[in-house]
Amino acid sequence: MLHYQPIVATTDQRLLGMEALVRWQHPERGLLTPDAFMACAEETGLILPIGAWIVQAACVQAKAWHDAGLFEGSVAVNLSARQLKDPALRSVIISALSESGLDPHFLTIELTEHSLMDNTEATLALLQELRACGISLSIDDFGTGYSSLSYLKRFPVTTVKIDRSFVRDITTDSNDAAITKAIIAMAHSLHLSVVAEGVETGMQLGFLQAHGVDAIQGYVVSKPLPAADIPQLVRRHATTGHSETAPAPTSERLAERVSVMQL
Ligand code: C2E
Ligand code: MG
Ligand code: MG
Repeated sequence: MLHYQPIVATTDQRLLGMEALVRWQHPERGLLTPDAFMACAEETGLILPIGAWIVQAACVQAKAWHDAGLFEGSVAVNLSARQLKDPALRSVIISALSESGLDPHFLTIELTEHSLMDNTEATLALLQELRACGISLSIDDFGTGYSSLSYLKRFPVTTVKIDRSFVRDITTDSNDAAITKAIIAMAHSLHLSVVAEGVETGMQLGFLQAHGVDAIQGYVVSKPLPAADIPQLVRRHATTGHSETAPAPTSERLAERVSVMQL
């Protein structure tokens, strides 16, 4: 099954999108997160049918939320290295979009630096084609791999997601703070947007807001939730008073508002 975690704008908490995160409802072991089964799915190749289902289910869900007038944001789907090498990936994505009716501008693909490392010309051509259709491309867990600037230049990347290992100690570790500031400056100078992952506290949020991060994702807003719980989250979010026209709130005010949204 898929759980969804909101991604919100740092300045006004506008709901920008949801990241789809896979879970396995195991009959004996309960709800399992990807660390319990992803490596096995990759090794066995089961990631291919599972991954195809994930793209399809996420597109169908996003279109249903749009049609219900719930929210107009995007859905982000993680792709593994093995999926990226699969010649069928193109048709998996294109048919998920056409069968669901979701506008490609509302689909974001998340890839890690690791999965781009042994890229081929075919991967580059595919990503360029997907980008040309309007699909966005995020580099996930940025900062944990080679953080190669050449990936950012070579691939049609739209967004960099700062890994939560940097965000965790951002207010106490001067190295993590410096790395985060450098990633933000570099991404912005390449006209890429920046999402910070794993934001848990108002202090972290204040730092990220002060340094111009575009969007945040983390427990400070919400944990990943089953689709059935998203309408309640969105309604609660709407009543916390975000506004597209209001001036940017102070970080204290923002942290206060965001904590109202916590479950
Ligand atoms: P990711 O794509 O970087 O996803 C973010 C992970 O951080 C998620 O873990 C999420 O639950 C967790 N997280 C979010 N906010 C916070 C926070 O404030 N604090 C803390 N401590 N954690 C937070 P999750 O769902 O266990 O997923 C782990 C990884 O598994 C994902 O990292 C992604 O690489 C992979 N994954 C998840 N779903 C899929 C999928 O559908 N397909 C593929 N290929 N990989 C997936
Ligand atoms: Mg991700
Ligand atoms: Mg990540």
